[in-house]
Amino acid sequence: MEKSGKKFGSGANVCRRCGRKQGLVRKYGVYVCRQCFREIAHDMGFVKYE
Ligand SMILES: [Zn+2]
Repeated sequence: MEKSGKKFGSGANVCRRCGRKQGLVRKYGVYVCRQCFREIAHDMGFVKYE
């Protein structure tokens, strides 16, 4: 049982980063909305999501 990352419950279809439901991206093992994805993608080195 992990304590971290349980903010939104199990299997919740929301962004893991901000909790938004719109435009979820489930690529590259991430589970975030498009807006957050752009940010983390930039951090991770993906620069193709524009
Ligand atoms: Zn988000």
